[in-house]
Amino acid sequence: MSGEGQIFVLSGPPGAGKSTIATRVLQDMPDLAYSVSLTTRQPRPGEQDGVDYHFVSREDFQARITAGEMAEYEEIFGNLYGTSEKIVRRALGQGQDLFLDTDVNGAEQLQKRFPDGVFIFLLPPSRKVLEDRLRGRATEDESQVRQRLERVRYELTKAKNYTHLVVNDNLEKAVAEVEAIITASRRRTQRHLKLLEEFQAS
Ligand code: ADP
Ligand code: 5GP
Repeated sequence: MSGEGQIFVLSGPPGAGKSTIATRVLQDMPDLAYSVSLTTRQPRPGEQDGVDYHFVSREDFQARITAGEMAEYEEIFGNLYGTSEKIVRRALGQGQDLFLDTDVNGAEQLQKRFPDGVFIFLLPPSRKVLEDRLRGRATEDESQVRQRLERVRYELTKAKNYTHLVVNDNLEKAVAEVEAIITASRRRTQRHLKLLEEFQAS
C-alpha cells in the first residue's frame, strides 16, 4: 500500500445483500477496514455495538452533527445513520483502505468529498427476489418491509451515479465481482508512483 487510502462504498436497496457481501469481502480482504457507522436505530438480535454499528441516542447523534463531526449522515426510516469524518480521515491518512455501507444519499455526499472513491451499487436480480429476501430476513415487521420497498424506486434513480454496478443473483459471483473491483482499483498506477520511483532509483 502506498500514499493515501481509498474509500469503497457499497449501496443498494435494503435486502439487496450489502451486509452479507460486506462480511464476506472483509473476511477475504483482511487489510480492508470497515467503517462502522453511527445509528440511532435499535440493535437487531445478534448485532453488536461497535461492530455492526455504534448505537447512539438521537441527542448524541445530533450533537455530533452540530459539532461538524459527520462526513455524511441521513435520516432513513425514522432513524439517523452516518459516518464519522474523523474515522475516515484518520484511516485514509494512514494509507488504510476503508469499506463503507451507506444509503444513496450518504454516498452522494461522500462522492463530493472523496471523488477518487469507488462507489458500488448492488442490484438485486428482480423486485420479486428483493421482496422475498427482505421478508425472508424477518428482521422487520410488515409495515417496515413495505416502507423499505417503497424506497427502492428512489434508490434506483441514483444508481447511474455509481462507478460500478454488481447484480447480487448468485452470492459467490457477486462477492467475487466486488472483490475484483476493489483489487483492480487498488492496482491503479497513480497509487503506486512511489514504487515506480524506488525501482527507477535502484
Ligand atoms: P442488506 O444489508 O442490503 O439490507 P442483507 O445482506 O441483510 O441485505 O441480505 C438480505 C437477505 O438476503 C438476507 O437474509 C441474506 O441472507 C439474503 N441474501 C443476500 N444475498 C443473497 C443471495 N445472493 N442469494 C440468496 N439470498 C441472499
Ligand atoms: P439497516 O437499518 O438495514 O442496517 O440500514 C438501513 C439503511 O441505512 C441501509 O440503506 C444502509 O445502507 C444505510 N446506512 C447504513 N449505514 C449508513 C451510514 O453510515 N450512512 C448512511 N447515509 N446510510 C447508512
